[in-house]
Amino acid sequence: MSGGEPIVEDKKTGDPLWIDLREITLRYVLPVSGVKRFFEGLKEGKLLATRCPKCGAKFFPPQPDCPECGSSEVEWFETSGEGVLLSYTVINVKPESFSKYPDYIVGVARLDDGVNVIAWVRDAEPGSLRRGMRVRVESEKREDGSYSYYIKPAVSP
Ligand SMILES: [Zn+2]
Repeated sequence: MSGGEPIVEDKKTGDPLWIDLREITLRYVLPVSGVKRFFEGLKEGKLLATRCPKCGAKFFPPQPDCPECGSSEVEWFETSGEGVLLSYTVINVKPESFSKYPDYIVGVARLDDGVNVIAWVRDAEPGSLRRGMRVRVESEKREDGSYSYYIKPAVSP
């Protein structure tokens, strides 16, 4: 992903692809058991990431091997799901498969655990968002019964 854009270009067709295709990417980079674990976590309301016990690097989405030091002994941990909003953008030119949806917001959250999460921003208007504001990343069941995760403004105490 260059320049932090939530849209990537399809290498075959040149069509823009929305980053939510990350879930498909995960199926390639994670062994089946790892993907299952991640989505089981979402079902239980947990946002799981992996950490390398050798060098301490943390990864979200979870990685089966450590790209930093090459170790394949990563361990899973549950993130707090809490952090700050690093950036966001309103998507008004959508991939064809999303053209029926209204404009949506994609954001990057930096969790307190030290991982970045790219996801749709829910329960917020663009005007109410600002860099550095506290946010939560929560799992949610989608219309098709699958689970995904969304960035939402943290509820003020
Ligand atoms: Zn490592």
